Amino acid sequence: MGEVNKIGVVGAGQMGNGIAHVCALSGYDVILNDMSPDALDKARETIEHNMTRQVSRDLIKLDDMKSAMSRISYSAELSSFEAVDLAVEAATEKEDVKKKIFEALCGVVPKHAYLASNTSSISITRLASVTDRPEKFIGLHFMNPVPVMQLIEVIRGLATDQETYEMALGLAKRLDKTVANAEDYPAFIVNRVLVPMINEAVYTLYEGVGTVESIDTAMKLGANHPMGPFQLADFIGLDTCLSIMQVLHDGLADTKYRPCPLLVKYVEAGWLGRKSKRGFYDYRGETPVATR
Ligand code: NAD
Repeated sequence: MGEVNKIGVVGAGQMGNGIAHVCALSGYDVILNDMSPDALDKARETIEHNMTRQVSRDLIKLDDMKSAMSRISYSAELSSFEAVDLAVEAATEKEDVKKKIFEALCGVVPKHAYLASNTSSISITRLASVTDRPEKFIGLHFMNPVPVMQLIEVIRGLATDQETYEMALGLAKRLDKTVANAEDYPAFIVNRVLVPMINEAVYTLYEGVGTVESIDTAMKLGANHPMGPFQLADFIGLDTCLSIMQVLHDGLADTKYRPCPLLVKYVEAGWLGRKSKRGFYDYRGETPVATR
């Protein structure tokens, strides 16, 4: 099996910076790529901020933080991936965006390199089919926030070979994460269950059954969820939630997965949740304020 020492991560948003963070702390060399230089600057700040918090909580040592920070390089050019052993794609949840990235990656990364997608919902088999190495392609679905969440959902495409699967298990072990295997069907396990619940919460709001706050309170105290569905949706990103519902709706052709029009409206307004400072809550002030 090809050894993985150097990992390239495409997309330096919420997930990409978290993946870079945990890989660097586990001793991998990491190149973090984004087409937006601003996203790269923000990612560097976020990683530093999050590692500093881990140091202050005695979860990691300052020396480990310093060496991990020095193992991450930042690049706006995919050409910097010429020596990676594994490329993990964590760009926007849009199939055409991801396919273009994988096509470009095939022309850059070495022949032996594995390819992985952190997609929340899109078919691994379909993404793999645009590459020159579908047998070396796998779904590695990290959870948000990556440094905190224990799970990686591992999804094999139709062509993924055993060696690539074992590479994924080895990576998860070195990152000290737990694996759940999922078959390659729309949204896999976690989001097949979670995101329709969020969508149903938006319908509950849309139909006036409750307000953002009453629905969040009801689900926190009534179902013992650590976060209400709107807090969670804002945390995930409403564009990502909508994309996942569209993948479920298209892929399973069942009307129960119809995205709520109110969710569509928030996304169209650019109110994407925490990352854009406004979603079902407004985060621009001291404390979040419900928008409905
Ligand atoms: P995000 O919007 O925070 O970040 C996406 C980043 O990708 C942006 O910085 C954008 O500039 C960059 N990007 C877009 N096109 C690119 C390209 N062609 N080349 C390089 N960079 C590009 O999104 P996110 O929440 O980090 O989600 C990223 C992926 O992770 C998605 O597939 C999403 O479904 C998945 N995911 C998200 C969560 C979550 O809770 N947010 C959890 C698990 C998996």
